[in-house]
Amino acid sequence: MNDKSHVIKPLLGNSYPTAAYGRGVYIYDTDGRAYLDGCSGAVTANIGHGVQEIIQAMQAQAARISFTYRSQFTSEAAEALGAKLAQWAPGDLDYAFFVNSGSEATETALKIALQYWQEQGRPEKRMVLSRWMSYHGITLGALSMSGHVLRRKRFVPLLEDWPVVEPPYCYRCPFGKAYPSCKLACADGLEAALQRIGPDYVAAFIAEPIIGASGGAVTPPPGYYERIREICDRYEILLIVDEVMTGNGRTGKAFGIDHWGVVPDLMALGKGMSAGYTPIAATLVSARLIEVIQNGSRSIMAGHTFSANPQSAAVALAVMNYIETNDLIAQAAERGKQLHTGLKRLMQAHELIGDVRGMGLLCGLEFVQDRISKTPYPLQTCVTERVIEAAKRHGLLVYSAAGAINGQAGDSVIVAPPFTSTSDEITLLLERLDMALADVA
Ligand code: PLP
Repeated sequence: MNDKSHVIKPLLGNSYPTAAYGRGVYIYDTDGRAYLDGCSGAVTANIGHGVQEIIQAMQAQAARISFTYRSQFTSEAAEALGAKLAQWAPGDLDYAFFVNSGSEATETALKIALQYWQEQGRPEKRMVLSRWMSYHGITLGALSMSGHVLRRKRFVPLLEDWPVVEPPYCYRCPFGKAYPSCKLACADGLEAALQRIGPDYVAAFIAEPIIGASGGAVTPPPGYYERIREICDRYEILLIVDEVMTGNGRTGKAFGIDHWGVVPDLMALGKGMSAGYTPIAATLVSARLIEVIQNGSRSIMAGHTFSANPQSAAVALAVMNYIETNDLIAQAAERGKQLHTGLKRLMQAHELIGDVRGMGLLCGLEFVQDRISKTPYPLQTCVTERVIEAAKRHGLLVYSAAGAINGQAGDSVIVAPPFTSTSDEITLLLERLDMALADVA
């Protein structure tokens, strides 16, 4: 531990390497060690580190103007970014409300959903339903919508009691069923909840297309989102899709929900939107919702000092342009296939891998004590942490997705390298993970 540090770290008393610089898929520390970034940091650095085009865009915008306040000015960068997002987004998600983090993006979606109903004389529609095994952010509104047991625990008295629906977690189906004979019981759970609560009190339902931090790339069965959309429509509930982790190309399509052709009413973006080059996030809003607010109060009651600042907007725009120019969404799909096949092969060699899942370059591994019975490891064995530490010793970074399930370990990691990874770099990632898993077994 660096005794002189005044920075509060995730684990007090632990020592962390000091990052010196990043190039491509590698991060180098001040001791000269290279780490293969197998999880793009927090599934964020989607185009790798040190990309010159982004650095140049950053410098060019800084030379013009970095900060303007949104009630005084708009900027060319923010306008161009809004237009680019509308072009990428499905359906009529034509408008962007800019914020700074994924938590702000989901919480802004929550606020817009409530306001949409208020503007139509229905203020009693104020609950936002969500699923257990979900993560929508750390601020209190976002945490109220999050079914992540470990992250909620300390703050339960401050939270709304909202997560009510079981997740589409086929590996351990909460209903003890199997697809397709389950007939999507998990999706129908939303309808049952709406009937119990009364749809007149519910503003929206929020879900991650593929469950990220609270499960490790848990992918729903076919037809799940189509059924969810249909239920939301039938009961007059808005559908918020949280694409903070899955968005901007990560799963091999522009947005995770595009795999199912479903159009939500609101969409939260963050992380890969700027590929980590600067903090920025956004809530995309359907034209239908904007029309209601425009014909009503005209003002969305949300926003932050740094919302829509031109510096971050220029960087996010440069990242989206870079992804387009280099056809990186197709590359994420292609490399994703290689990664998935490689992880399945590792499963044959390592008994502790119970499941391999995910789409594109968002892959998850769940660890179990016994593969046949799917018995989880006891919490105190800290298997996820041991895998992460072993990987680090072999010069590889992977991301924890443990702790969301019923306060038990729910051991899993996310493997999600940058879209720019070469085929050889994916092979190297798999070799290092193989060695790390052998250390833990
Ligand atoms: N939503 C999802 C799906 C996430 O994965 C995260 C972060 O991991 C968030 C929201 C919160 O984003 P942030 O950490 O930028 O506030």
